[in-house]
Amino acid sequence: MVMENYSYTHLSAGDLLREERSRSGSEFGQLIDTYIKEGKIVPVEITISLLKKAMEETMKADDKNFRFLIDGFPRNQDNLQGWNHVMDGKADVKFVLFFDCGNEVCIDRCLERGKSSGRTDDNRESLEKRIQTYLQSTRPIIEQYEKQGKVRTIDASQSVDEVFADVKNILEKEG
Ligand code: AMP
Repeated sequence: MVMENYSYTHLSAGDLLREERSRSGSEFGQLIDTYIKEGKIVPVEITISLLKKAMEETMKADDKNFRFLIDGFPRNQDNLQGWNHVMDGKADVKFVLFFDCGNEVCIDRCLERGKSSGRTDDNRESLEKRIQTYLQSTRPIIEQYEKQGKVRTIDASQSVDEVFADVKNILEKEG
C-alpha cells in the first residue's frame, strides 16, 4: 500500500533471501534454507550484499528511485554494524517504522498466512523460534534507534486500513 501511494521502492530482506535460496546455482541456497526454517538470522554478509545489489540496480534503472523502504532489516547487532559500515556516506536512515504487535496476534496472522503462503517458517514451531530471535536480537536494535529519536511506532494490532492510516500520517509528516 505504501508503494502504491508513495515513491518508495520496497526491499524486503526476507524476500531477497528467499529469492536467493531458490536461484539455481546459488552457493548460499542450502544455508539460507536452514536459517529460515530455524527462524535464525542469516549471516550479515549475504543479506547486505543482496540489499546493496538491489538498491544499486534500482537506482541504475532510474536515478529518481533513491528512496527505499527496507523491510525486516536490521534484525540484529551484526546487521546494524554491517549496514553502518557498508552504507556509511551512501545512505541516510530517515526513520524506522516499528509495527508493534503482541505475539499471539502475530502468530495467528502468520498461521493464517501459512494456509496459502507456502513459507517453510509459517508454522507454530518456527514462529516460536522467530519470536525468541526477535526478543533477543531485534528488540535491542529498535531500542538503539529509539535513543536516536528515529523510531515511529504504529499499533499494528489494528485493522489493515487503520494501520495504513497511521503509516500515512507518519509519511506525510516525514516522507
Ligand atoms: P521475514 O520475511 O522478514 O519474516 O523473514 C523470514 C526469515 O528470513 C527470518 O526468520 C530469517 O531467517 C530471514 N531473514 C529475514 N531478514 C533477515 C535479516 N535482516 N538478516 C538475516 N536473516 C533475515
